[in-house]
Order: sequence, then structure tokens, then C-alpha cells
Amino acid sequence: MTSLSLDPSRPRVAPPEFVQNPGAQNLAGQNLSGMTRAELAAALVESGVVEPAKARMRTGQLWRWIHLAGVTDFADMTNVSRDLQVKLADRFTLARPEVVERQVSKDGTRKWLIRTAPGIEIETVYIPGVGRAGALCVSSQVGCTLNCTFCHTGTQPLVRNLTAAEIIAQVQVAKDDLEEWNGPDGEDRRLSNIVFMGMGEPLYNLPNVARAIEVIADNEGIAISRRRITVSTSGVVPELTALGETTQAMLAISLHATRDDLRDVLVPLNRKYPIAELMAGIRAYPGLSNARRVTFEYVMLKGINDSPAEARALVQLLKGVPAKINLIPFNPWPGSPYECSSWSTIESFAAILNRAGYASPIRTPRGRDILAACGQLKSESEKVRASVRRKLESAE
Ligand code: SAH
Ligand code: SF4
Repeated sequence: MTSLSLDPSRPRVAPPEFVQNPGAQNLAGQNLSGMTRAELAAALVESGVVEPAKARMRTGQLWRWIHLAGVTDFADMTNVSRDLQVKLADRFTLARPEVVERQVSKDGTRKWLIRTAPGIEIETVYIPGVGRAGALCVSSQVGCTLNCTFCHTGTQPLVRNLTAAEIIAQVQVAKDDLEEWNGPDGEDRRLSNIVFMGMGEPLYNLPNVARAIEVIADNEGIAISRRRITVSTSGVVPELTALGETTQAMLAISLHATRDDLRDVLVPLNRKYPIAELMAGIRAYPGLSNARRVTFEYVMLKGINDSPAEARALVQLLKGVPAKINLIPFNPWPGSPYECSSWSTIESFAAILNRAGYASPIRTPRGRDILAACGQLKSESEKVRASVRRKLESAE
């Protein structure tokens, strides 16, 4: 990260969260747009820009400009005096990270490749018509430490956890592109839901995921309610209670198999937290009820986990758990070792679940043409990483 301090008399502030867009007005400033309310108040006071007695009022004022209006320039904050605007711009920035690539699928799905720092490239996908209006699939890590054998992201080594600001920036970039700041409200929203189903395992980055949810759910800002925010995990059992308690988010579990021997292969984390432990953890998830069900994700792999017997085993396994099931047709990626089940197999599987009371569970693949579908995300970050590694190796 760059940490340029042009004026040595300035108080030292934390380094900027993002590489600035070319032309951004302030290369040295700390970025305010990815902070929680408490962090924003502290930054304003510690910098000396706002006196402690006015911290609450100024934080609320700035918060609405940043998270309701989406401004990226202090000069647009029309109820803030010119003098204060200048002081803020002198110390801080609201710049977005760089959008390296934007793709739009023929089905309306949008995918952005966002660069927040050298070698840190994040993929974010907007899917219209999912949830109440449209869902944003955000990433929590660059790469993943877990190696689920059907997942493209799993082939990319972990580069690092994303900061809360980098998670929030994904939502801000999407709202910029969807032109959705300052309303439209309620029914007219295009972005109504957030799913942590992009790159990475969110429960290995829970503190930052929780801080990001705090900001995204705030009523005076982006205001996407916690009931419309879903965190998907491959089954990090010891973190489930903390997830529920700190975020009150909806839970999704990447199950994919009903037997340990098969799940051990598909989701290797199962060797650490086998199905019985996982199910016990899910049953204890805070706030679980018929109105707040767990979503079980089940990827349909030809000849691997798609038999009628497995559908029946799934129904058995979920007995007594308030659950929804999402059947995900496997999305192939270059070199993937599996094939997607045939449509008729998926339908027969779904019919068994339907008879047991689970409604319309097949997730239509979206954005396959731009590799934006589930499990297809894999940024180029590892290339950067590989080149850095080569440099380091040659230096040794
Ligand atoms: N790491 C978290 C969240 C990201 S993955 C998790 O595993 O839950 C989001 C969903 O996509 C998971 O259910 C994952 O199992 C599924 N998925 C991964 N690769 C896929 C693929 N190639 N086709 C279909 N779904 C896939
Ligand atoms: Fe990681 Fe989830 Fe992919 Fe598994 S499915 S490798 S946990 S991103």
C-alpha cells in the first residue's frame, strides 16, 4: 500500500485503503467511505478536523452523504461549509477503487473486476431478478484456502482477506454503476439483496465481514436489511454462533453431499467438521426459525451426488431444520473435473425435494457467458502473486 504523506506537519493517519483512481484529488488521505460509524467519528476527531463535541452531528451528516447519497467528493456535501469541505479534502478521501473491467452478460448479469491495491483484484457480480429485486454477490477474500474440488476459486491460492472497506467498496461500485444512490427506495430498488457467495470463505474473515454488514445494513445509508444479507459458508462450524450473534445475517451452507466419504472429497473442510457436527452447529444458529430458514446449497454433479437416493438422504438429513434448498447446476470452468447433471436428473432430484415440502429449488445459472456464475470467479491476482514470487525467488 502507498502511504504518502506530502506534508510532514500533518498528523499521521492510517494508510489509504485503496489505490486511488487516476486523477483522485488526494493521494495521501485516509479513505472514509469504508468505515463504520464509530471509526468515522474517531477519524474525524483524531485528525483534529472535527471537535469532539461536534463528532456525533458531523458523523451523521457525513454518513448520509457517503452512504445514502454516495458522494465521492467533499465539495458535493452542500450542507457542509466550504471551510470544512477543504479541511476534510486535505486529510481524507472518498475515492472509489479502480474498476479494471466491467462485463455485462446477455442475461443482464454484471461483473466488475475491482483493483483495491497492487495485486488485489476482486470479482463482484450483480444478478437482476434474484431476491426481491436483484442480488449482489460479494467476495470476502482474494482466492480461498479451501480447495473444494468443483470450485474455480478453490484453485486460486489465498492472496489475502479483504478489509471491511474492500467489501463495502464492492457494494458502492455496484451502486455507482446501477445509478442507485439516494434512492430509488423500496419497491423500485434494483439492488435489494447481498450474498457473500463470491470469492473466499467469509467465516475465515468474520470480523471484516461483520463490520461490512454493519455499514451495509445501516438504516441511514445503504439500508439493506440483515434479513436480505446472506452469508454462505462451506461449514466453518466454530464460527457459526459468532456469525449469527454479530451479524444477524441469513445463513447458507454449501452442503453438496449427504455422506461424509463424498463430502470429504467435494468439500475437504468436511474432514475437519464432518456432517453431524455441521448439522448440530446449524441447529444452534441464533435466530433460526421458519421465517429465517437456512439455505442449503447443493451443486448438481453428474453421476457424483445426483441420484434419487441422495435426494431422499438429503430430505432425511434436513428433518427438523427450518431449511430452504438451492440446487445449483454445476458451472463448468476451464479444466474442471466434473460435469453438470442433465436437466432431467436435476428435475427428478428436485421433484423428490418438492414432494417433501421444499419449493422451486433450482437456481438458474446466470452470467455463465462472462464466467460470473457460482464458482466461476477467479481473478488474475494469483498471476501477480506468481510474478512476485518469481522475483523473490530470483533474488534469493
Ligand atoms: N466459500 C463460500 C462462499 C462462496 S461459494 C462457500 O463455499 O459457501 C458460493 C457457492 O457456489 C457455494 O455454495 C459453492 O459451493 C458454489 N459453487 C462453487 N463452485 C461452483 C461451481 N463450479 N458450480 C456451481 N456452484 C459452485
Ligand atoms: Fe472456497 Fe467456497 Fe470455493 Fe470452497 S466453494 S473453494 S470454500 S470459495
